[in-house]
Amino acid sequence: MGLFEGKKGLVFGIANDHSIAWAITEKLYDEGAEMAFTHLPDKDPERPRMERRLRKLVEPRGARIMVPCDVTKDEDIDKVFEIVKEEYGEIDFLLHSIAYAPMDDLKGPVANVSRDGFKLSMEISVYSLIAIANRAQHILKPGGSLLTLSYLGGEKVIPGYNIMGVCKSALENSIKYLANELGPQGIRVNSLSAGPLKTLSSSAVGEFDMMMKLYQTMSPLRKNIIPEDVGKSGMYLLSDLSSGVTGENHHVDSGYHVMGAPPIELQQQ
Ligand code: NAD
Repeated sequence: MGLFEGKKGLVFGIANDHSIAWAITEKLYDEGAEMAFTHLPDKDPERPRMERRLRKLVEPRGARIMVPCDVTKDEDIDKVFEIVKEEYGEIDFLLHSIAYAPMDDLKGPVANVSRDGFKLSMEISVYSLIAIANRAQHILKPGGSLLTLSYLGGEKVIPGYNIMGVCKSALENSIKYLANELGPQGIRVNSLSAGPLKTLSSSAVGEFDMMMKLYQTMSPLRKNIIPEDVGKSGMYLLSDLSSGVTGENHHVDSGYHVMGAPPIELQQQ
């Protein structure tokens, strides 16, 4: 019997089969979970690309609930929770795998970020977790788990990560406050700090190929992570296996974050 047999959840953030949310979802399906999903609303109802891409992935695994949701709109978030409550009543887990910064603001130095670009980046990449936690606390069961995705650029300066690093710092601090507030109800809140993976979002991050090279040569495991690594750890954090873990930022990055200097063989070159 799978670890998630009889468990139900809600997943925000599958754009395509490269999405981190999909890597985690695949593992959850393998363990027997039932899930509802959101996708970005389609601008042209005649050509529903977002919905179609999601449907292609999750329908063969038995998904029935796919709801459009732009997290900058409270009414969209409310609608998602209304539908999920109606269909499932309560849920066991929720995955938030969403981030965005306007390209001009993301590409440039933090010192040049526009007021509007800052607001939108923080709203989508950080406030959305708070807005979702606000609704989720009413339908997550005691013992339930809420997970978001972060990156090392929220703790240390990673050149090229720019304003998204500022957002990830705020996101990582938000999970601590949310963990404290939702903990008395038995709800856990964690983040998973993933190493670089090629996705739609990461293609917008500057120096990305260089980052991948650094992880390959500098991390203790001397390799980049693969989607399955995040899938397995994400499943652990959403499952009862991590029942004593909350307010935690769990690194899945081949150990890169522990290094304070390059490995000795590189220093000797
Ligand atoms: P992705 O592009 O597949 O996922 C990003 C998701 O955010 C998409 O599904 C997109 O639709 C959604 N989104 C953006 N704006 C939205 C809005 N207004 N409303 C609703 N949804 C919106 O890329 P990904 O790499 O899978 O990113 C998922 C998470 O993982 C992000 O938080 C990202 O910062 C984080 N992360 C990624 C990496 C990496 O290297 N890819 C590393 C560490 C952390």
